[in-house]
Amino acid sequence: MISAPKKALIIGAGPAGLAVSVLLARQGYAVEVLEKNLYPGGRCGRIVRDGFRFDTGATMMLMPGMYREVFRSLGLDFDTDLPMIRMKNLYTLCFDDGSRLAFSTDTGAMAQQLELMEPGSAARAARYVETGYRMYRLAVSRLLARNFTRWHQFFNLRNVLMLLRLRVFTTHTNFTRRYFRDPHLQMAYTYQNIYVGQNPYTAPALFAMIPSAELTEGSWFPVGGMHALVEKLLAEGEKLGVAVRYRTEVQRIHTQGNRVTGVVLADGTLREADLVVSAADLPHVYNRLLPTSFMKFRLKRMRYSCSAIVFHWGVGKRYPQLDHHTIFLSDTYREGMREIFGRKRVGEDPCFYVHAPVRSDPSAAPEECDALSVIVAVGHHDPSNTAEWQSLTEKVREAVIGKLIRAGLTDLREQIRFEMVFTPPQWEDAVHVARGAVFGSLAHSITQMGWFRPANRHRRYKNLYFTGGSTHPGNGVPMVLMSAKLAAERIASEQPL
Ligand SMILES: Cc1cc2nc3c(=O)[nH]c(=O)nc-3n(C[C@H](O)[C@H](O)[C@H](O)COP(=O)(O)OP(=O)(O)OC[C@H]3O[C@@H](n4cnc5c(N)ncnc54)[C@H](O)[C@@H]3O)c2cc1C
Repeated sequence: MISAPKKALIIGAGPAGLAVSVLLARQGYAVEVLEKNLYPGGRCGRIVRDGFRFDTGATMMLMPGMYREVFRSLGLDFDTDLPMIRMKNLYTLCFDDGSRLAFSTDTGAMAQQLELMEPGSAARAARYVETGYRMYRLAVSRLLARNFTRWHQFFNLRNVLMLLRLRVFTTHTNFTRRYFRDPHLQMAYTYQNIYVGQNPYTAPALFAMIPSAELTEGSWFPVGGMHALVEKLLAEGEKLGVAVRYRTEVQRIHTQGNRVTGVVLADGTLREADLVVSAADLPHVYNRLLPTSFMKFRLKRMRYSCSAIVFHWGVGKRYPQLDHHTIFLSDTYREGMREIFGRKRVGEDPCFYVHAPVRSDPSAAPEECDALSVIVAVGHHDPSNTAEWQSLTEKVREAVIGKLIRAGLTDLREQIRFEMVFTPPQWEDAVHVARGAVFGSLAHSITQMGWFRPANRHRRYKNLYFTGGSTHPGNGVPMVLMSAKLAAERIASEQPL
């Protein structure tokens, strides 16, 4: 007699939830994904308005090696199954004195620009990238792309040596100062810490792996924006019978003894399952969906990444001053980081990133128009933080527009046809990410990585697993996809089908 397949419920239809849905369906589970919002994608969502298309969160596809590995386990080929554009320039960095640096995988073009900024720096930059990329490869194989299910897999002499080689006892800025004297170059090679919500002045030098991986492996942009990846995962799931239910908020995970038996929805109905995988932000799950436990107390004491104020503008004109990805770095870089990570606010003259995708994908806006998204890193929405987000957002908007006008977008104010804004409390509300800390939510300090990061299986409920940015290995689309792969592998080894 053929028995019915076991049932797996996934909470959340972000990239991690959708990836794990495909992986579990491939293992033979009957999979249902429950998503509180009307649309899929979470922090990798999409908004279309009046012919303008915006990625709500992720815009850069970095670390293709990690995507390739996860795609293989999904039964997909990263290089052929998702139409993509390889970025010629990774991004253009703009400084307060009007100088620019086009970050590029073209080593000749990079060397020429670096020598103009600081004579002799091109050779040192090459060494920086070589060292950083070596750390990246080591971190992926020994720290990020493997499960830690027993303490001795993490605490052993081999790993102590690995941590030394990953330079976790030096800060990223101190490490970078050994290579560059020019303050603009020091900023150019450390700003990437913000991708994972970190302060470059306190983050370990290990994170030199981000610019080094970018400059070595390059950056891609899926046609249709990063949300095209979400669509691909949905389509793969559909082929395997995965059902996705929208507007279906999980209010509680139902427990019985040492197991979970399903979830309770906002309307009170119980959905039973053999296995639950939460792809919603982990602190939200421990704080709101599970009975009180020690983890709730631990999560309160853990460190959280920074947040972001994001503006999406439908603009009636295209500005040649902007690249597909442009980053504006202020001379008040250090003070700005103090505001974000110390006071949990934002400085007077913030650094910011502009996404202008029509330059490589014209389908993002009507002809002659631009779909611009501006991302400004700000402090997270700390419970003890009395920040007045509305007035801070107004100030940030003025600072950003002022700088863009000075950069040559002189009539920008008049050209903005509509605006949509996300602030830290809105992020928390939209996707239930703790403290609106969208680049984590849990910070990626070395004491919150590997064995120290909340594990991808609940300690007591042995059929409750976690995936997504706040469990192992961390945040960013390639990492959350990896977290889905690791959770699925752990499920395959621990749960008899
Ligand atoms: C502004 C911004 C820019 C970024 N840029 C990049 C980038 O360029 N490159 C990159 O790689 N990464 C980037 N990231 C990070 C990336 O978007 C995230 O790492 C990724 O989306 C996290 O995926 P996830 O599946 O873990 O969580 P999410 O995408 O947050 O998905 C979680 C889902 O769970 C749902 N949910 C929550 N609670 C419940 C509940 N109780 N019941 C049902 N559903 C629930 C949410 O609605 C959401 O859809 C960026 C993020 C932001 C915000």
